[in-house]
Amino acid sequence: MLHNLQNLQKNLPKEVVLVAVSKTKSVELIKQAYVAGQRIFAENYTNEAIEKIQALKDLEIQWHFIGKMQSNKAKIVAQNFDWVQTIHSIEIAKKLNQHRVNLPKLNILIQINISNEDTKQGIVADELFTLANEIYSLENLTLRGIMAIIAPNLKIDAQKESFNKMRELFLQLQEKFTNIDTLSMGMSDDYHSAIECGSTMIRLGTAIFGKR
Ligand SMILES: *Cc1c(COP(=O)(O)O)cnc(C)c1O
Repeated sequence: MLHNLQNLQKNLPKEVVLVAVSKTKSVELIKQAYVAGQRIFAENYTNEAIEKIQALKDLEIQWHFIGKMQSNKAKIVAQNFDWVQTIHSIEIAKKLNQHRVNLPKLNILIQINISNEDTKQGIVADELFTLANEIYSLENLTLRGIMAIIAPNLKIDAQKESFNKMRELFLQLQEKFTNIDTLSMGMSDDYHSAIECGSTMIRLGTAIFGKR
């Protein structure tokens, strides 16, 4: 059983949304989490995700895409997910917008490369307002906020430094745009720091389902 999940659900602050990251985990495990009350799940790989979404289509699950967003997958992502958290270019946003027809608006987070790592996806902070403006004009998308994956193996102080930068950007974005309510940051190794720094959405895989 998923004991950690039940503890997490009980102990999280009310304003923090828990996203269960189910990549590489079975449909059976997702069902167990669902029975325990979890309704929001995230996947990284489109083929794997679509199989699971199909298999679980009778359940009331909100699906988040958190993988590398490739433009040739825009259609399948736009038609199967409720949120996309990893947007870092207007081209991909436009493709999602184009394929999001006859469905509720697709919720979008802009991914920020907050530690400015070469290997990480995401825009640098300076580009945020330009991209936000462009996304704002796309009628089938709703920009909800920003997300980040911080560098691994940081000390607590360094984690908080990155998370605090994210909160600053989030507050600035809220001043300029409506509908901005989501600051997605915090994974199994750093979610305590993220919550202290104002995260409104944590994305946990290992802490819920065990090692991948
Ligand atoms: C895999 C993944 C997670 C979950 O990572 P854990 O360390 O297992 O909690 C969260 N966010 C993103 C973007 C991921 O790819």
